[in-house]
This record gives sequence, structure tokens and C-alpha cells, in this order.
Amino acid sequence: MRRNGYWGTITGMKILAVSDQEVEQIYDLVPQGFFSGIEMIISCGDLRYEYLEYLVTLLNVDLYYVPGNHDLDYNSDSTAARAAGCTNLDLGTACSKGLLLAGFGGSIKYRPEGTNQYTQTEAFLRAAMLLPSLWRNRLRYGRALDVLVTHSPPYGVHDDESRSHRGLKAINWLLDWTKARYHLHGHIHFIQSNLARDALWQGTTSVLNVYPYRLIEIENV
Ligand SMILES: [Zn+2]
Repeated sequence: MRRNGYWGTITGMKILAVSDQEVEQIYDLVPQGFFSGIEMIISCGDLRYEYLEYLVTLLNVDLYYVPGNHDLDYNSDSTAARAAGCTNLDLGTACSKGLLLAGFGGSIKYRPEGTNQYTQTEAFLRAAMLLPSLWRNRLRYGRALDVLVTHSPPYGVHDDESRSHRGLKAINWLLDWTKARYHLHGHIHFIQSNLARDALWQGTTSVLNVYPYRLIEIENV
């Protein structure tokens, strides 16, 4: 058990999660050492890559991100579609400090030419691409996943009826299949929509809306 000024008594991993909106306050708080106990940064999308690069440079910890529907097309060959020094977790998995991560970028398709937008069917096909890695985790670690990182919320959790904010059913499927302990997402500006920020999915997964940022402590396995 360690003690840290900001965090109080802590036992788990401390994560700074960000999404959707740059918080001016962070530009002051980071240099002041306010987030000095942070061990990992996770971005749930729709943030300028310069902002992510700023955070990872100052905090000097691993940063994992997924692209949102307002980011550049991550499939592009352009290096401008990558955040330097950060790890794009879209359709990828990682094991960092013993924590099993997987990522799924984008949102529901609401514009025909929209970037990083998918129909429900397309999202299922993408989610299926994660299964081999998740299977390997289950064999190797005895569990498939600890933290699912997405831009979109699940279907029916933290979403709404509008075309652009409907959740992706493929995310519910991934949560059901993996029993991940945490799901971090963005895309929903809960302050405007007045929605709850936390939910519990199927009694197994804490679904956390990250917008615009939050500090999370995840217990060690
Ligand atoms: Zn979004």
C-alpha cells in the first residue's frame, strides 16, 4: 500500500483517462505535478493528437488511445493519423503493468462519408477481429480482458436515441464475452445530456464515461 498526496491511500493502478474535450485546467495541473502518481493514460478519442503528445511527454507514462469519429481516419497511411509516442489501441490488445487492455475506436455510422463510423453489422465484424487475441489472453492469463477502451458507449448504456449517439451492440457483445472489469468510453457529453456517468453492465463490468477526463484507480488482479 502506498500513499500519495492527491490520491490518498491507494493500492491499485492509477490511470488518467481523457476524451472528447481538451481541458484547459490540465495544462496548469500537469506541470504542477498534480498527476504525478499517474501510471498510465488512456484516451477514448476525439482529441487532437498534439494534446495526447503533450500529456505523454509531460507525464512520461504509456498512453493508449482509440480514434473517435472526429479524428483522422486511422486507416490512413499518413503519419498525421498517428499520435507520436502513443499506442493506437484500435482493434488491438496490450498487456501493460499486468493490465490487459483492448481497444475499439469509432462510433455508430450517422453520415455516409463519416470517418471511423460503422454500422452495427460493420462493428460486429470489427469486434470479431479482436477475438483471437482475447482467446490467447484467456489461455495465457486465465482471463480475456481487464479494460475495454472504446470511443462509443455500448448499446443501451449511456447512449441516446439520436443518430450520432446510439451505442454499438458489438461493444455489449465484447463485454458479455470477455467479462472485462472496466469499460472506458467517450463520445457522450454527459454534462449536456444529463446522463449518469457510471453504470454496471451485467453485474460484471463498470462502464465509465470518461468525458472530459477522470482519474481512475484500478485494483490489481
Ligand atoms: Zn464522438
